[in-house]
Amino acid sequence: MTSWFQQQVAKQPEKIAFYWQDEQWTFAEINTEVQKWQSMYAAVLPIKEKRIALFSQNSKEMYFTILALWELGKELVLLNTHLTQKELHYQLKDAGVRQVIVSPMKLKLFNSFEEIQAIPMSLATEIDVSSNTERESYKLMSVASIMYTSGTTGNPKGVLQLFENHLASAIATQENMKVTETDCWLCGVPLFHISGLSIILRQLVLGCSVRLYEKFNAQQVTNDLVLGKGSIVSVVTVMLEELLALYPKEGYAPGFRTMLLGGGPVSLATLNQCKKLNVPIIQSYGMTETCSQVIALSSADSMEKIGSAGKPLLGIELKIVNNEEQMLPSNEVGEILLRGKNIVHHYIGEDRQLFGKRTTDGWFSTGDLGYLDKDGYLYIVSRLSELIISGGENIYPAEVEQALQNISGVKEVAVIGEPDKKWGTVPVAYLVRGANVTEAEIQQKVSQSIAKYKVPKRIYFCHSLPRTASGKLAKHRLVTKERTAFLEQ
Ligand code: ATP
Ligand code: MG
Repeated sequence: MTSWFQQQVAKQPEKIAFYWQDEQWTFAEINTEVQKWQSMYAAVLPIKEKRIALFSQNSKEMYFTILALWELGKELVLLNTHLTQKELHYQLKDAGVRQVIVSPMKLKLFNSFEEIQAIPMSLATEIDVSSNTERESYKLMSVASIMYTSGTTGNPKGVLQLFENHLASAIATQENMKVTETDCWLCGVPLFHISGLSIILRQLVLGCSVRLYEKFNAQQVTNDLVLGKGSIVSVVTVMLEELLALYPKEGYAPGFRTMLLGGGPVSLATLNQCKKLNVPIIQSYGMTETCSQVIALSSADSMEKIGSAGKPLLGIELKIVNNEEQMLPSNEVGEILLRGKNIVHHYIGEDRQLFGKRTTDGWFSTGDLGYLDKDGYLYIVSRLSELIISGGENIYPAEVEQALQNISGVKEVAVIGEPDKKWGTVPVAYLVRGANVTEAEIQQKVSQSIAKYKVPKRIYFCHSLPRTASGKLAKHRLVTKERTAFLEQ
């Protein structure tokens, strides 16, 4: 059997499938490139080392490298380029890799990694491809990629993503979005995240084209959408907000179909703006462990079900349970459990097997809290670990944060629980202010929109908030000694 890539090359060799800056390649031309990269890596990588790390921003070289390494049957550890040295050390050691392929500009970052061989991601001009015809198929039960979770709730966990998981994910996306070979997917999200890598996998399974960007640049993406250079674009909330701010009066070219929004919550104000401007979006919910979206809300439903993450995609089952793992009726908040082929089987490391987080019949505990409405639409309310129980009442920090965000002078905010003699726990806010608002003013204003027990009892003014390498709020760092480093002087 050949790889999914080889199948696309055979099926539509002349189709322009990959765009990078002013260059473009048909599937047949991509194949020629991939053969060169494959030969180069075959010469420098030890055959017995199955697991190879990649450290690069999006680039055409990274794209060809990923395809070439899969042709060689390697497992790719995709490293976030924003990690600190300490975090990189942790992930490389945890994944047990000895070689890391690095974009040439960043090679010196790896000087201090004694046991790691850093290999530049660059092609010598003369490569002999004739000697290398050996190509691997994509074996469904083999590991295709390893990604670390964002580390929002603690140490990032290495997620072993199988080709089978990626295939299920691409098929579910196909069912949901009706992707065709004429679609061109704009990728300004990083390939080292599942949001980016899943775009390449969809290309391999569904045959669409990909336009890759080094980084997301709202002006560039807007220009390309106006010129009809893309039909689908993947975004996270801040990217969507930037695109809306630049939305042209005449709209995008008619070939534009939708934005796929994922990664975290989105404000109602932003959703309303999409509606007003008539920008179609598909909201989605997923995580590294589910190999991209597993729940999605179509544009058609987005206003009636505003704030919902949507319904399960093809092949995904979902239920909401209480602490005793009993199923809850609609409108009751509990933990979100998922089952389906998109969901991975293991984390790296015996002690962190994902099976431990599954019930005997294969349900995966997401660690997220949510509820289903009477029509079966999912609403995500919080992470289980962030839930605050104060005097017996549940407080969802995201709700309090939304209310605080609406106050002028509030720039960024994180709400967490703090021990309290009387109530057990009380909500407090770590807040970056833009104007000189005071604690009392904020408390007074927010109490007009949320119940008194939800109003933060203390407000700690900060110069910045702790974030993960992917830009998510890392609240767990606010309950350690490290918290003082973020406070205003
Ligand atoms: P870690 O597991 O290390 O704490 P993480 O969970 O942030 O990090 P990711 O896999 O990048 O790592 O993120 C998945 C999480 O993002 C989900 O479990 C959920 O909490 C959040 N998320 C994703 N989509 C949405 C959404 N549409 N609405 C709200 N939250 C979302
Ligand atoms: Mg997680």
